Amino acid sequence: MKLEVSNLSYSFYGRKVLREISFEIGEGEFLGLMGPNGSGKTTLLRCLTRYLPEATRAILVDMKPLHTLSDREVASTFAVVPQSSSTDFPFTVKDVVLMGRIPHIRSRIASTSRKDIEVVSAAMEVTGCASFADRPFSELSGGERQRVVIARALAQAPKALLLDEPTVYLDISGQLEMMDLVRRLNQEQSLTVLAVLHDINLAARYCDRIALLSQGSLEAIGPPEEVINSDTILNVYGVDVAVRKDPFTHDVFVMPRTVRSRASRDGMRVHVLCGGGSGGPVMRQLVDSGCSLSTGVLNVLDSDYECASDLQIPIVAEVPFAQISDEANDENLKRIDEASAVVVSRFPVGPGNFKNLEAAMYALDKGKRVMVMSGGGPPSIDFIGGKADAYIKRLVEAGATLVEDVEDLIRQLAGTEAVA
Ligand code: ADP
Repeated sequence: MKLEVSNLSYSFYGRKVLREISFEIGEGEFLGLMGPNGSGKTTLLRCLTRYLPEATRAILVDMKPLHTLSDREVASTFAVVPQSSSTDFPFTVKDVVLMGRIPHIRSRIASTSRKDIEVVSAAMEVTGCASFADRPFSELSGGERQRVVIARALAQAPKALLLDEPTVYLDISGQLEMMDLVRRLNQEQSLTVLAVLHDINLAARYCDRIALLSQGSLEAIGPPEEVINSDTILNVYGVDVAVRKDPFTHDVFVMPRTVRSRASRDGMRVHVLCGGGSGGPVMRQLVDSGCSLSTGVLNVLDSDYECASDLQIPIVAEVPFAQISDEANDENLKRIDEASAVVVSRFPVGPGNFKNLEAAMYALDKGKRVMVMSGGGPPSIDFIGGKADAYIKRLVEAGATLVEDVEDLIRQLAGTEAVA
């Protein structure tokens, strides 16, 4: 089934809530519909199911305008899975799934056919509900109910599933189970899926493409790795996030960053010598405390390199896995010249990055304040047989201050004179 939406607008009482939305969903595609509360997601789903019939001229189903389809055709095109379902009647699971066949039963007095029973059994089997087919629906857990509602949707034999926040009331294992089930149906039965999802990370993991709505307009549509970036998330949700890739699946995921009130460090210049993930928390909190940072030398792909890029901190970079070159070292020393203080995080030291420790000694020679993070333990992770630890001892003897943690570091920095 191919769905085309062109220039769809919709207003409630003269207030536009959907603005010239155009997109297509291909056969067997899994499209996530995302956006903040009130951005128009539910209204868009309701236009597709003709619940809001005024907008149907903007929608084509397999080239046919939606308004020309019969109710039965619409019901065998789309099946809706709501956020949650409940009933006061003592329906069994089987009864609820059988309700999906209603559009296929030709007359009010006709009874269920053998085909209906077969379709219902298959739908319960594939969704894992067969084992509790005779239990009352009202006694099931949230996750079990959602599986039954999916079975009911499948019994309708639709071409597309429209899901409205199907995981919203489920715990994390229920969410994954639900999304796995929908993905499996999408792949094995070529069912087209349009799902309103709130969880950006779930959407990125399961959807082929994501459509992002903002105030009734389509802000972006495309594969998750194109649509989900810190700029679009900040624009649409007003939240500052870091976007990373899962190292195992390469799916993107977001991590909200805490926004703290900025202390008045007056943009004091601090150069951070770090690596191997030791510098991320230090840089984050120094930025929050109002410092203006630089960092280096970091190998491209080092996780501290990614943190610094996210924080838009100038980085003295070296190619991946290479030793610090003379050029990079010179640039690092130049950054140190421009800084009021230098922080040495508790980073792994090997032959390739030993020059970063020597850079700290350079800073002391130039009269800079140097702070070495000890984290309460040995101040480096020494991969060169004690040479790094011995060097740090020399740094401390030459005037570097040992600090326990970032709070301690920020307190100590308060007493540092800014570079003119
Ligand atoms: P979302 O699903 O993204 O949270 P909705 O589609 O529910 O957004 O709502 C979009 C806008 O339309 C909101 O401003 C909402 O208040 C408004 N709206 C939704 N339904 C109605 C309605 N039945 N009558 C009036 N306004 C509505």
